[in-house]
Amino acid sequence: MVDDMMAYLASVDDRPVWTAVPPEVQTRLNKPLPRDGEGEESAYADFVRDVLPYPVGNIHPRFWGWVIGSGTPFGALTELLASTMNPNVSGLQGSPRYVEDQVHRWLATMLGYSVDASGILVSGGSMANFVGLATGLVDRAGFDIARDGLVGAPQHPIVYASTETHFSVPRAVRLLGLGDAGYRPITVDHTFRIDLDALRGTIAADRREGHRPAVLIGNAGTVNTGACDDLEALADLAAAEDLWFHVDGAFGAFAALDSKLAPLVHGMDRADSLAFDLHKWMVIPIEAGSVLIRDPEAHRKAFQVTGAYVESIDGGIGQDGAAYAERGIQLTRGFRALKIWMAIKAYGADAFGDLVSRNVRLAHFLAERLRAMPSFEVVAPVSLNIVCFRYRPEDTAEAELDGLNRRLVIDLQEQGIAAPSHTTLGGRFVLRVCITNHRTQERDLDALLDGLKHLVGHPTDNDRHEADHGTA
Ligand SMILES: *Cc1c(COP(=O)(O)O)cnc(C)c1O
Repeated sequence: MVDDMMAYLASVDDRPVWTAVPPEVQTRLNKPLPRDGEGEESAYADFVRDVLPYPVGNIHPRFWGWVIGSGTPFGALTELLASTMNPNVSGLQGSPRYVEDQVHRWLATMLGYSVDASGILVSGGSMANFVGLATGLVDRAGFDIARDGLVGAPQHPIVYASTETHFSVPRAVRLLGLGDAGYRPITVDHTFRIDLDALRGTIAADRREGHRPAVLIGNAGTVNTGACDDLEALADLAAAEDLWFHVDGAFGAFAALDSKLAPLVHGMDRADSLAFDLHKWMVIPIEAGSVLIRDPEAHRKAFQVTGAYVESIDGGIGQDGAAYAERGIQLTRGFRALKIWMAIKAYGADAFGDLVSRNVRLAHFLAERLRAMPSFEVVAPVSLNIVCFRYRPEDTAEAELDGLNRRLVIDLQEQGIAAPSHTTLGGRFVLRVCITNHRTQERDLDALLDGLKHLVGHPTDNDRHEADHGTA
């Protein structure tokens, strides 16, 4: 299995970025429960035939959809090590919890955050946002919400974030019992950053109406365009208004690793809680996210619930109780920390900074090429690694453009050429390339451009260089 998987990774570039799962394979993946085993070799043979050839595509150098990392061969092997040990990292004594402690200090150092922060590795940014918001809510609801709940709350706690904020944030607000009524999506400016005047006005209006402004979210890299809110201004405002300041830095937090990009996320270090993913720009195998919380006591207060079976004892395996289980929702927790610890040790923090710089350079390279193509337009500023664009031939009515661009993104994927994704910006359907991919090179973006030209049916630019590259 190990040899096959390494060979599979070595040949990733030889395959199309995506291949639809054929109907006969879908049928084979919908079988009755086997009562008797077919044997390990047979199960593996079916994996090789029916599962392995039809991935989502994100390990491919020409995959730039949504925000998904590309993983590494070393990462796959470190997952094997972790699942071989198979510990429960709930805080029980053993080396794994020290590895996780170490990982939190290293990640905090990489991001310029407090190394004394409390941290927990979670499934990803969605859960990291949830943990950060839950902590912030308990800390700033203005009453003992952990004890009393929202029933009979003296004031409705309110959460603020820009309209470009990832959906995991309003969902967390809903699941925390505040309802959609407790969430204020604030408008953005033309660069997709939160409108500070609108934010101030909304907070003031809420105070007038007797609500309790409680939590403010800042974006270090929005999912649509990679926009970074003015985090310094948000930190100032949160301090002045006594709000919990949570930053969603799912991928954008790692801009801190590049000295030229770092100013985009200045102020992130002042957040009360900082959520980010390791399985995106850090190319750690999925799943791995993290949240750091400046005040360990606030973190503990939000999540600690005791059970006699996890109480700490004077020595042995249970001497710290379940310290990590008291920082999040899971009790049994996997050894996510190992793959992160080993990657940082093996490559060093600077290697990840180089990857961020390289991906951002590639995004600018793509944007420049698209701007030189008369029938295409780049529709949002490129501040990090995301390029949003659309096809807009001169003689075509606006009403037809969404349909044309929908077709383009589907054809690029279904023909296995490249895998951008899509979104809607200002009511317009656009293609979206998000490069969190250590395998991508310029020639891969050239293949996308060639594919686009081919699909729209005519050469669209004056750039001779591009004619030298074949389509994928
Ligand atoms: C991906 C993403 C999330 C959600 O993280 P998951 O790891 O997918 O749960 C939240 N916010 C932003 C900005 C993201 O890009």
